[in-house]
Amino acid sequence: QTEDVRAGQIPRYVRVNTNCWSVEDAIAYFSRQGFTLREDGDELDSKDFSRDLHIPTLLLFSSSVSFQSDKAYQSGKIILQDKASCFPAVVLAPPSGANTHVIDATAAPGNKTTQLSALMGNAGKLFAFERDKNRFKTLQTMVSKAACTNVETANQDFLLADPRDNKYKSVTHISLLDPSCSGSGIVNRLDYLLGAEDEADDVKEERLQKLSAFQLSMIRHAMKFPAVTKIVYSTCSIHAQENEQVVRAALASEEAQSRGFVLAPRSQVIPTWERRGLEDELDDPSCVIRCSPGEDRTNGFFVSCFVVAETLSKTVV
Ligand code: SAM
Repeated sequence: QTEDVRAGQIPRYVRVNTNCWSVEDAIAYFSRQGFTLREDGDELDSKDFSRDLHIPTLLLFSSSVSFQSDKAYQSGKIILQDKASCFPAVVLAPPSGANTHVIDATAAPGNKTTQLSALMGNAGKLFAFERDKNRFKTLQTMVSKAACTNVETANQDFLLADPRDNKYKSVTHISLLDPSCSGSGIVNRLDYLLGAEDEADDVKEERLQKLSAFQLSMIRHAMKFPAVTKIVYSTCSIHAQENEQVVRAALASEEAQSRGFVLAPRSQVIPTWERRGLEDELDDPSCVIRCSPGEDRTNGFFVSCFVVAETLSKTVV
């Protein structure tokens, strides 16, 4: 059986679900299980673990460790989530508190929905959309297992949600966290191994064009919600067509122009992460994040953040 060697270089990432546990309690639990907390997560052996440098609720273990039968995993206290996939919710940074209303437009299986719920302090309201019926069931199971009490799930196409519906009038933050994309950044993905990378150039181009048109329509729809001031768009793709080029088209759209959306500066988008957008694709590629499979010990990923320009001057320090 073919193995993608890059998979072995990605640590086992464990996100502590702060809806039911603290990071300190998690560290104490794993220490009792015989793991040793190391300062440096670069070369972990099977009995080591460490804290992540960028995501405060993330722990790293050796890729050889499995948590499927661990009590903490089965009870929803930990969630197995790749580091790169933890970035978008942290960038969206919804305030915690009863008055915060957020939309997660593409929610299943619910890794980032549960992460957003925890960042909101399990308070306020998080509307989570998922259009696929089976994946919606998975989302419901995950939301309940992670003890999220501020999430309202809807088995609905986000593009059909009416931005003028009174229900959404206070939504200020929207996450478009990997709407359907080519998945070309995912290491060990079956269709990668089976040769999706080998498809003919014109077929690949047509597929990417369809995906990017859909991705752009999702961002433009999100920009129509009357109170929205911050939108995070991410993909697990490595292609500029689905990443920087979609962002560029979104910035030029009627919706962005009329509402004054611009890209949030690097200072608000995990500034300490070194790998940024592709040169020549954006005026300021440092505004967006890229993760490279094989080079960053994560899957391939892209994160961008749109903000209403006038709110920016109030939040920049
Ligand atoms: N954000 C998820 C997480 O972190 O667990 C992963 C999202 S997954 C890559 C993409 C999901 O978006 C799929 O389940 C797909 O069915 C859903 N989706 C795609 N387009 C949608 C739409 N227009 N409305 C609602 N859900 C959509």
